[in-house]
Amino acid sequence: MTNKYMYFIANWKMFGGLNSLNSLNTVTKFFEKFKKSKFVKIIYCPPNTLLESMSKKLKKSRIDVGAQNCHEQENYGAFTGSINPMMLKSVGAKYIIIGHSENRKMGETDNLINQKINSTLKAKLKVIFCIGETLKQKRKKMTKKILDTQIKLGLKKIKNKKDILIAYEPVWSIGTGLVPKNNDLLETVSFIKKKSKNSKVLYGGSVNSNNINELKLVNNIDGFLIGGASQNSKKFIDIIKKTYN
Ligand code: PEP
Repeated sequence: MTNKYMYFIANWKMFGGLNSLNSLNTVTKFFEKFKKSKFVKIIYCPPNTLLESMSKKLKKSRIDVGAQNCHEQENYGAFTGSINPMMLKSVGAKYIIIGHSENRKMGETDNLINQKINSTLKAKLKVIFCIGETLKQKRKKMTKKILDTQIKLGLKKIKNKKDILIAYEPVWSIGTGLVPKNNDLLETVSFIKKKSKNSKVLYGGSVNSNNINELKLVNNIDGFLIGGASQNSKKFIDIIKKTYN
């Protein structure tokens, strides 16, 4: 695990103002000196309001910036309140999170997610494609069926998969402190890799500096999507350090 290329994606959700950018100084300083930095890809996904200033701040740092969602249209249009991938790119985004369960919960369908992935790839941005089952579905032993459907529909007719990272985020794990058992995670991640044909697969859901020592033992995981713990630079750095310890 110690010399594996891994992604650490910070999802700030609807948190943070301009003053939150100061906290990134700790992360950039750490990353400059970190001996294993060539194996590490850090991507910060702040609210859209911070994208431009954050990408300017991180310009010289090898840390990338991404958005948390986008409109499905490739071009400009009369869609009040919406922002398309090309516009996000213009303010520094290199990645877009698509299909997060918090957006699926608000009505985002697999078909819409597929359109968003298409537009994002057309804008030459990379996709962080989130999939995951609810607690009810897990209890009914439907996890694989659900993931299979989300992959099939979300990636329908998409040939270029090299710019897609898949984040396996069980809905019951997000923000709850619950994480899957390592054996289950190993099996689910290899199932996702098989079904999605070769994509990199990350895990997301309550990752923190206490459970990372256990989670890092799942050797087919290519990184972590981190919500709550990523808003605290010290905790975020701790997760990275412990992964390579
Ligand atoms: C997320 O929102 O993608 C996430 C993984 O959140 P948390 O780490 O807080 O569970």
